[in-house]
Amino acid sequence: MLELQEALARILAAVPPPGREEVALGEAAGRVAAERLAAPLDLPPFDNSAMDGYAVRAADVAAACPKAPARLRLCGRIAAGESLATEVPSGACARLFTGSPIPPGADAVVMQEDTRVVPEEPGVVLALEAVKPGDNVRRRGEDVERGATLVEAGDRLTTGRIALLAAMGRGCALVGRRPVAGLLATGSELRGPGQALGPGQIYESNRPALAGLIRGAGAVPRVFPLVSDTREATRSALAEALAQCDAVVSTGGVSVGELDLVKDALVELGGALELRRLAIKPGRPFLFGRLGEKLLFGLPGNPVSAVVTFLLLVRPALLRWQGASEIALPAYPGLLAEPLANPGARPHFLRVRVDGAGRVHSAGLQASHALSSLAAANGLVEVPPRTTLPRSSRVTVMRWD
Ligand code: AMP
Ligand code: MG
Repeated sequence: MLELQEALARILAAVPPPGREEVALGEAAGRVAAERLAAPLDLPPFDNSAMDGYAVRAADVAAACPKAPARLRLCGRIAAGESLATEVPSGACARLFTGSPIPPGADAVVMQEDTRVVPEEPGVVLALEAVKPGDNVRRRGEDVERGATLVEAGDRLTTGRIALLAAMGRGCALVGRRPVAGLLATGSELRGPGQALGPGQIYESNRPALAGLIRGAGAVPRVFPLVSDTREATRSALAEALAQCDAVVSTGGVSVGELDLVKDALVELGGALELRRLAIKPGRPFLFGRLGEKLLFGLPGNPVSAVVTFLLLVRPALLRWQGASEIALPAYPGLLAEPLANPGARPHFLRVRVDGAGRVHSAGLQASHALSSLAAANGLVEVPPRTTLPRSSRVTVMRWD
């Protein structure tokens, strides 16, 4: 049996180098940047007002207060998108709005709420509060300086990074190509929605669950029909899925004691088996193989095992395929609200629920078929072999949804 880290290293070594393509920023959420991008301009690109108000020389209003307002002559108006070529002279002010450029001569903004206009004197503004130079001014380059790194190759394009790139005038980004991952569910007992259940039959749940996880990893799921447990059906389904996709994620047919239908199908198609059986729980039966550059991830059929092995071994591979540098599940510290025990000989990835205070609870029945605890869970905690983590232990919680 292979340790998790060793297995992951072997899988990552088999992942082909990322292809690249250009996508519009509006379509780029979750994609992986394929190149470093530097700022072509300062942000903000010019000094501008943080408020609706009046551009002033701070020295003119240094002593202003509600009882003794500073009297300023209105010398112009600058709407957002406009600019004022002439200087604001001493004793004067210019009307402006949030985002309006600060006119030459002015060095601060008095916000509208701190001013009063005198109806009888339309050209006069009274400033009721003092400001210092720079007050209510957003300085050119204070957010990002020209030349600064916006994204590194390998960064995922988050909402904030997309907004930042757009603010730099970009419309698209070069990103890693999304691998297409085919989904096969094997098992003669499996039925789809709307089908009546005969004796011994169950509804299939792995393909919808894994489709969401594949999408979440930035890849493209392609769902194939259910596969019954015969050599012929398994081989032809695998051949079809491998032909159409970059990778195939199958579930079932890899258990110990069962016919090794998935492994045999891969070998019969000329593929190479790279690894099977992992030293983790859930997920001991796990198969990884390849046919040329196409990869096969043969996950166990039990729904919890399928999800856990996907998160630990397939998700990182799909992300690396797109060139991502961060491929591990996001992990956060938590404090155990109750003990977590692993009497077994393999590391156990327990499904947990982290509450709003960061306290970590077992999500329920910790069995590889138990969907109630998977549904209640929002994280995984690894408990080492033959270990009980006492209540109040600090743990690392891996999150996914
Ligand atoms: P297997 O890995 O094929 O031996 O399956 C292990 C267990 O998981 C059995 O109880 C199967 O019925 C169940 N199982 C297999 N595939 C699925 C699936 N796609 N959806 C729900 N349960 C499954
Ligand atoms: Mg089966």
